[in-house]
Order: sequence, then structure tokens, then C-alpha cells
Amino acid sequence: MGGDGATLVIVAGLHGNEPAGVLGAMRVIRALREERSRRLQGRVVFLTGNRAALSVGVRFLDRDLNRAWTSERLRTLRMGARPGLPESTAREDREQRELLAELDRIIGAAGPTYALDLHTTSGPDGVFTTIGDTLENRDLAQFLPVPLVLGLEELVEGTLHEYLGERGVPSLAFESGQHEEPEAIDRAEAAIWLLLVGLRLLPESAVPEIGKARGQLVPIGEAFPKVLEFRHRHELREGDGFRMRPGFRSFQRLRAGTVVGDDLRGGVSMPEDGRILMPLYQSQGSDGFFVVREFKVFWLRLSRVLRGLGVGRFVHWLPGIREHPSIPGALDVNKRVARWYALQVLHLLGFRRQLDDGDRLVVLRRGKRAASEGVHTGDGHPPPNP
Ligand SMILES: [Zn+2]
Repeated sequence: MGGDGATLVIVAGLHGNEPAGVLGAMRVIRALREERSRRLQGRVVFLTGNRAALSVGVRFLDRDLNRAWTSERLRTLRMGARPGLPESTAREDREQRELLAELDRIIGAAGPTYALDLHTTSGPDGVFTTIGDTLENRDLAQFLPVPLVLGLEELVEGTLHEYLGERGVPSLAFESGQHEEPEAIDRAEAAIWLLLVGLRLLPESAVPEIGKARGQLVPIGEAFPKVLEFRHRHELREGDGFRMRPGFRSFQRLRAGTVVGDDLRGGVSMPEDGRILMPLYQSQGSDGFFVVREFKVFWLRLSRVLRGLGVGRFVHWLPGIREHPSIPGALDVNKRVARWYALQVLHLLGFRRQLDDGDRLVVLRRGKRAASEGVHTGDGHPPPNP
């Protein structure tokens, strides 16, 4: 589709019980096909994610397709494609291998590539974008006037948008609403039109849908904070019997200690003051809920200035921070020395937490994957430091 210029990749239905993105994308495809006068200045590629799971309407069949985009997993997958080696039995392996082959082809082609990954949530509200916090990803996210939530990659490993970001593709995930609400389809469609215009794949004059698209997203951006950060993830383990209590909505403000769910050990409460995000009201999934907290847009602007100045190159001069002896691009932080400023300052400068282990913190510059397989984020982290 289209001529020279940028490529926009739209992935929808990576979770099979989230068809809204697929339906929204199909509306855009239909509109573009019907009106041939709308010539794209570039390419749009639509990819459906977990097709086997979509056909039966479940999040996944054997494993979550949006938690497996790690270097380790991809190496195994790529090896599995070689004849003579045993194939893994997870049905998602095939889905992921097909997606990976398409993405390799697209990313290898000429011109800049951008990606939008469409999702929905099981609970009400919760329309937002999430990115790995690089300046390129922020520039992409600003085309969608909804809350921006940063820091998911420190709590959840192996998301597609994080992986694409590491491959140099500015990427964003967009949660367009609750699985079954018709507005989730409208908002997914709106997001695509806004990106097509924002990335100049189409002139605004050629997109009569743009006014409606803005009308669908702007009120949400006005009703909720502009930027927030992920603070905590309540991770579910097999057989812990977690059930969310009814009535919670994404971005609802709650005090620390508020009981939001129950498992076999008793009540599960908010670990700190904040807003609850994506409370789990479906049977599949390993994230019970998240806690997010807003922060001032000022800090985003400051961090843009600091990153522009390349301040991150000198950060290992600070007390308690040194270049990591074995992982290129990583910093090794002694939290006993650098406790009060470490993670916040490093976030501002574009680093992400890779390992947090008592007194020791390892951070990586965002967009770089750990070169050493010995270091990974692990599960069930404590919330970020105060
Ligand atoms: Zn999803």
C-alpha cells in the first residue's frame, strides 16, 4: 500500500480476546481501498497478531504472545525454524514466527518504520498509550491525545512494542478501551487516522475522518492526567486464586491499603497511594492490576533537555554509580550511596531498571537490550524506590 517514504506497521489482536483493534484497522483498510484518490506517501502494513486465539476469542491458547519478545525467546524461535531441530509445541510459536518473519522483512526495507500495537482491557476506562521512554517514542505518542503511561517495560518483560523499540522502530502500544465496548473499535480506528496524518502518510485534507477521530480521544486526554508512570504490578501466579473485587475502573484514585482483590492468602491491597490501572476482570492473564502515578509534564521537558545535552554520558561520575564491568551501556548503582536520587534521575536521563537486587541496581540505556543473558528483569519486582 502506498509509495515511498515512511512505513507504519499496525499490529492488532496480539491478544485473541481483543478484536477491537482488528475491526478498527479493517475500517481504515476499507476506507483507503474505496477512495483511491487518497494516495499514501509511504506504506501502511496491517498485521493480525494471534490469529488462532482470535478465531476462538481467547487471550491466548498456550502462552501470552505479548510477553515473549525477549532476545532469549526469539533466539529459540529462530533456531526452531531450522530443519532438523524439534519444534516447540506452543501454538503461539507459529504465530510469533510468522509475525517475526513479516517484521524482519518490513524493518529491513528502506525508509523509517513506525509501529502501533493495538490492545484493549478487561475493565472499564483505561484508554492510554504506553511506550519505552525514548524521545522518538514520545514524539510518536504525542500524536494521540490520551494519557501516556511510562515504565511498563520495567514491570513486564517481552512486549512487542518494547522489542520493536530496541530494533530502532519508534513504537507505541495503544489501549483503546474495554474489550467489548463499540467505542474501543472507534478509538482504535481514530488512532490509526491520527498517526497516518501525524506521520504525513496522508495530508489532513485527505482524511475527513480526522475531526471525529480527535473528538473521540481529546475528551479522554482532558479527563485524566497527561503523563503517569507505572509503579507496581500485582503479578499472578498459577493457582493463587486471585479475584479482583468488582467495581474498579482504570485511573481510579485509591489510597494505600485499599483492598482491591482476594487470593488464597487473603485480601490484596494497594501497596501505595496511586491510581489503579487495568484491573483484571477476565480469567486469563498474569497481571492482576497495576498502580500508576501521575507526574508533571515539566519533568518530561527537563529530561528532553538533559538527554539532548548528553548528560547520561557523564552520569557514572556521580557517587555510587559506575559503568557496569561486563554489560556494555549499562550502569551499576550502589543504592546505599546513590539511594535518594538514583532511579528517578536515571529515568530522566533515559535509563531503565534492568535488575534491582537489594543494595544493587543495574540500569540500561533505553532501546538497548542486555548483552549479557545473565541479567534480566525477573518477575515480581518490588515497586520502584521512593
Ligand atoms: Zn492486550
